[in-house]
Amino acid sequence: MIDNKSKRHYIAIIGGSISGSEAAFILAEKGYRVVVFEMNDLPYGKIEDGLPNWHINLRNKQEKNIDLKLNHPNVRYVPDVRIGKDINFDDLVNNWGFTVVILANGAWKDRALPISNIDKFIDHGLIYQNSLLHWFNHKHEPDYNGIQYKIKDGTVVIGGGLASLDVMKLGMIEMVQMELSKQKGIDIDLFTFEKKGILKILDGYGISLSDLGLKGMTLVYRRTAFDMPLKTPRDDSEESIQKAREVSNRLLHKYASNFIFEFVPLGSPIEKIEENGKLQAVVFQKNELVGGKILPLKGETFTLKTPLLISSIGSLPDRITGLPYDGSTLEMKNMNGYMVKGFTNVFAIGNAVTGRGNIQESKAHGTMMTNKIIDHHLEKEDLFEEWLVNYNENLKSVVQEQIEEIDKEIKSKEIMPDEIIEGILDKSEALQKKIGYTTYEKWIKFKTPIRLEDILKNN
Ligand SMILES: Cc1cc2nc3c(=O)[nH]c(=O)nc-3n(C[C@H](O)[C@H](O)[C@H](O)COP(=O)(O)OP(=O)(O)OC[C@H]3O[C@@H](n4cnc5c(N)ncnc54)[C@H](O)[C@@H]3O)c2cc1C
Repeated sequence: MIDNKSKRHYIAIIGGSISGSEAAFILAEKGYRVVVFEMNDLPYGKIEDGLPNWHINLRNKQEKNIDLKLNHPNVRYVPDVRIGKDINFDDLVNNWGFTVVILANGAWKDRALPISNIDKFIDHGLIYQNSLLHWFNHKHEPDYNGIQYKIKDGTVVIGGGLASLDVMKLGMIEMVQMELSKQKGIDIDLFTFEKKGILKILDGYGISLSDLGLKGMTLVYRRTAFDMPLKTPRDDSEESIQKAREVSNRLLHKYASNFIFEFVPLGSPIEKIEENGKLQAVVFQKNELVGGKILPLKGETFTLKTPLLISSIGSLPDRITGLPYDGSTLEMKNMNGYMVKGFTNVFAIGNAVTGRGNIQESKAHGTMMTNKIIDHHLEKEDLFEEWLVNYNENLKSVVQEQIEEIDKEIKSKEIMPDEIIEGILDKSEALQKKIGYTTYEKWIKFKTPIRLEDILKNN
């Protein structure tokens, strides 16, 4: 007989990363039992598969934090189960008996490039950021059997923001590292490249990019470098906005210079050019900015020939059959809500709700952190790390607020009879057993792949 009242509610969380682990921990501390369903072996989401693997300390720290939260006696971690595929969402909501189901599945669907029929070139001329990063972070693993990409000279990247700058760094390092080794017999590891920058390294050997037969990559952004969201203004004053714009502009050009890539502002992709079934070029609409708005310059276009196109224009929540969507956004009961439309027991938290925009703007904490960054680290190269820490801290505090509200909903629901709780325990245990899962700690140790830095250390 289960006596504690909180223990008589079982909560399902979909996704185990920053949002899911935060939610699971808060609920577990309140005495609720929680099952976290995670589609991958590891619960680290974008930290493991989205953040380029040179961010070693940040990755390790954030992953350790997720471990501390999920390794809680009231949390049952069920990996390798994708809700919507391995378990139908309807089944989870209607038949398992959970008091509430919380979506913390993040944003894993690459925003589609606005070029008609371009997706037929996926992995044959077009790479979206999520697959690119997955390959980049895992390709060194001895048992990696995913798709193999090759960054080609002249690659065009479409995007803006810090993640797209990481994509530029990644691509340029890949090419230069390979050519330097092949043509000059000089082997330099990824971490050195990332730390020093390509320009400094090549200068040190008296070699230029063109000596290696390379022309480099090009980043195309629909606005200007001043408009890149690399810096958040300290406040709404004209002076702060202007200062942030100038910092963004300086940063972009600093990155472009250190990693030797071209930057083309004010272009939006509109058309593809193909020949014999191969992507040859992309046509861009020239834009002007009027009062901050992007306006197409009538009849003015430019074309960039490219052997490879990379799209780095952001991710949106992935669709799960059985849930209501309005376009790419999950439909909620009200604008700032967390309850999913059409349900009284399904909630969405973190990035699973709307993607990142709302979260960044919604929290004072985030603004405070951003100001701190502007003050103390004005033009440091590890800006992406600062941004991500800020973003994730912000996300966690949003999740904390959302969970407090969801807690009120849970308390208003009927407690569960023993047989429902036992049913959930049995079913989730069967899923764990099927894959040989015993304890959280053992599983994580077993499934964490060999890290590139460890391979390099041992060589
Ligand atoms: C390089 C980079 C780019 C970024 N770009 C964006 C962006 O474009 N948009 C944005 O909103 N945020 C973006 N972020 C921010 C990022 O999403 C946050 O830093 C943070 O990782 C979000 O945490 P989360 O827990 O909400 O989501 P995630 O880290 O994405 O975690 C979601 C978890 O849910 C799991 N999951 C997903 N679907 C299912 C399912 N059906 N069943 C079971 N498990 C499932 C995933 O495997 C994952 O572990 C980016 C971060 C990085 C590092």
